[in-house]
Amino acid sequence: MVFSQKLPFDLSQFERVRREEIVNDKIKKTDAEWSSELDPLAYEVLRHKGTERAFTGKYWDCHDLGTYVCAACENQLFSSDTKFESGSGWPSFYEPLSQASVDTELDTSHGMRRTEVRCHRCGGHLGHVFDDGPEPTGQRYCMNSAALKLVPKK
Ligand code: FE
Repeated sequence: MVFSQKLPFDLSQFERVRREEIVNDKIKKTDAEWSSELDPLAYEVLRHKGTERAFTGKYWDCHDLGTYVCAACENQLFSSDTKFESGSGWPSFYEPLSQASVDTELDTSHGMRRTEVRCHRCGGHLGHVFDDGPEPTGQRYCMNSAALKLVPKK
């Protein structure tokens, strides 16, 4: 019976290789490299946790369809399908494209307790996530337009 036979490769080996690829997917650059590659506002937001002024960014009122990627490393972050009107003046999504797209971390700066959202691949600061979002997740990923780039749906 073919199904009872041992597989010709070691699955645990495969899992390990796959995990290493994900780790190696990370992008590391020096501050000088980021500074020369990014426009000044994107650099301030992504590398120094800056925040663009509300209602001034490129995407808070954008309704085009497509995939929002990281402005620094083009990691796919959010689908326009999950974008909603938050009224905040920043582009807002109820979930990332995948749980592996972003990392989150507690941010206690400016006298607040917030959850920072970073690009998983380059570590760039994207914004914060709050639990006052709409269904189906109840989450509000409040992002900076300057940290994103919309790749329009073809
Ligand atoms: Fe990135």
